[in-house]
Amino acid sequence: MNNQVSTILNKLTVREKASLVSGKEFWYTEPIDRLGIKSIMMTDGPSGLRKQADTSDALGLNKSVEAVSFPVSALTASSFDRALLTQLGKHLGIAAKANDVAVLLGPGINMKRSPLAGRNFEYFSEDPLVAGELGSAYVNGVQSENVGVSLKHFAANNRENQRFTVSSDMDERTLREIYLSAFENVVKNAHPATLMCSYNSINGSLNSENKWLLTKILRDEWDFQGLVMSDWGAVADHVRAIKAGLDLEMPGKGKSSINEIVDAVESGMLAESELDKAARRVLNLIHTYSKDSNDAVNYQKEEQHEFARKTAEQSMILLKNEDQVLPLKSTDTVGVVGELAAKPRYQGGGSSHVNAFKVTTPLSVVQQINPDYQYAQGYTLKGTDTKESLSDEAIELAKNVNKVIVFAGLPEEDESEGFDKVRIDLPENQNELIKKLSEVNPNIVVVLQNGSAVTMPWIKNVKGVLETYLAGEAVGEATWNILNGVVNPSGKLAESFPLSIKDTPTYGTFDVNEKHEKYREGLYVGYRYYDMKQIPVLFPFGYGLSYTTFKYAELKIKELEEQQVEVRFKITNTGNQAGQEIAQIYVRNRASYIEKPFKELRGFTKVELNTGETKEVAVTLSRRAFSWYNEQTSSWQVDNGNYEILIGKSSADIELQSSLTLNWSTNDKPIIDRDTYFANIIARKDLAKALAESGLDKLMGQLQSSAENAQLLENIPLRSAVMLGASSEQVDKFIKLANQ
Ligand code: BGC
Repeated sequence: MNNQVSTILNKLTVREKASLVSGKEFWYTEPIDRLGIKSIMMTDGPSGLRKQADTSDALGLNKSVEAVSFPVSALTASSFDRALLTQLGKHLGIAAKANDVAVLLGPGINMKRSPLAGRNFEYFSEDPLVAGELGSAYVNGVQSENVGVSLKHFAANNRENQRFTVSSDMDERTLREIYLSAFENVVKNAHPATLMCSYNSINGSLNSENKWLLTKILRDEWDFQGLVMSDWGAVADHVRAIKAGLDLEMPGKGKSSINEIVDAVESGMLAESELDKAARRVLNLIHTYSKDSNDAVNYQKEEQHEFARKTAEQSMILLKNEDQVLPLKSTDTVGVVGELAAKPRYQGGGSSHVNAFKVTTPLSVVQQINPDYQYAQGYTLKGTDTKESLSDEAIELAKNVNKVIVFAGLPEEDESEGFDKVRIDLPENQNELIKKLSEVNPNIVVVLQNGSAVTMPWIKNVKGVLETYLAGEAVGEATWNILNGVVNPSGKLAESFPLSIKDTPTYGTFDVNEKHEKYREGLYVGYRYYDMKQIPVLFPFGYGLSYTTFKYAELKIKELEEQQVEVRFKITNTGNQAGQEIAQIYVRNRASYIEKPFKELRGFTKVELNTGETKEVAVTLSRRAFSWYNEQTSSWQVDNGNYEILIGKSSADIELQSSLTLNWSTNDKPIIDRDTYFANIIARKDLAKALAESGLDKLMGQLQSSAENAQLLENIPLRSAVMLGASSEQVDKFIKLANQ
């Protein structure tokens, strides 16, 4: 392939190369007929194909071909199921292939930093491991169908307002550990064909022109071999972008962009070799992913619809189930309330918006499976005011049934690509209605349809809550299968649900500055923040219930060769029906003298268990699970010392715990100099000999005999040891011996 591409590249004129690196209109690469170079198509999106055959736009304004709408990533992430995500990717790949689409523009794996961010529904998690692992699984699935992906939006694109110009400002450790980590995982483990460079800047440097990001980190460090394309309209200066490592501008700006590049090569501003690099990557992409029109594709929308249902069922999260109000029993009389039952929200707005194949609404499904149901609209999605007639009708209904299922959620216009939210509360008319219903009926179950975390001021008044996010076109079937117990729920939250927006890590700093988004919370995103500040949440990260119960036991940790740790434990299904459990492995670093989150998710697994069945699960943690990013040395560092392994049902419910000591680092002894504090010297047992030989031990001993003076000593640096009666010679001798 490389030879063929090289031969073609050698035959191209500068103008032809310039046309190759500038996309043809909205969705295509430029063909070069004289050399038989085809044009390939790229199309959104992460949760279903959005192929626009006629009028094109990047915001989902114009209709696209009919395709199955799968659940959004906020929901699929809650499955914590790698195999399911690979299957999803395969279905998307098949849909793309059948429609002559070479590259699917997804998945989006950005971090959910604030629940106000407009595009959270399209992203997986607040945790980089979840986004990285599930993102990799998805990419493997799509690419196994010989369709490329575009992993997006690279990087630190965490808000929508002013997304074209805002700078995400943070320290490098935060960037590496939180915002780049999922990308690194997918690039290294799933080898995406392309990456989409986001609109924003990082620390003032525009991503599409940032050589450090697009070349040094992405290619030199992570060995990315694919192509970098721009997000739609993210290029400000095409020549500078090529120099930084951006290969394809989308959409192309036509002649003006091509002329600009040709002029730059002619004037020497852009070396032809730099243009060659980008053109070669475009040729490689075309060569690898252009389709032969004779390729047979087995694309069955009915089958994909069934898979959309299964995916939703495997991901929905049961958040509350007091008195086992769910599953519904055949003897229950059920009232259904809420406009969202009839007009469900099942997908987000913007470029991921699909022209759905077949939407099954919760109302149409209940009509078929439970002819005795009663329905009241309850509220209107237009506006937030209570309409008394609608609300009264629902209250009357609630008086006459023994369980009420209320469909509630955020209206379409509240949540979309292109702008951020201003609140995370449901519309007031819905909150009011739920409260009123709970006054007349003790068995209220709320089914939520929303793209990201919402508040639930009525939580204590209702018995059940099922979070269905935006569940795709099979929303009706999937929801009732969970409510009726045909499927046992097994999803867990991949993001924390705060009690109030005021409790969130970015409260008061998110979206307040047009030009700079200051990541003041640093590493403390999501549960990392709530843990540290000990702030109670509505539902913690990793939380979700089942109709059965699970017990954890017998944690064993073993250090393996090649700096890996094996974690084993047993899970038993202690309830009375089969179910699946998502177990989470957190690591708490007690070895480092640096600031670090209280604990971090380093592994997860999902197991299926019959009643009474026990399975032992084993998860291997790599060196990276114990590392932190050291900006001074530009490397991932593991400190020698103690690490706790915490096995959780959720981030707040730790079932098993054990610790181990790692001695993997050979060079982590900090240099001792005159500024070193006695606290750091006392902590190092290996320095006892140097202290004794220099005579400092006696002086220290005197002070350490009183608790007060011992504390004082810890806060004195070596250069001030004269205060303790030490001589300069003694200090110099100690420093020399200590560093030997
Ligand atoms: C979005 C991308 C999308 C592209 C093409 C942009 O506005 O940010 O996610 O892939 O449009 O539709």
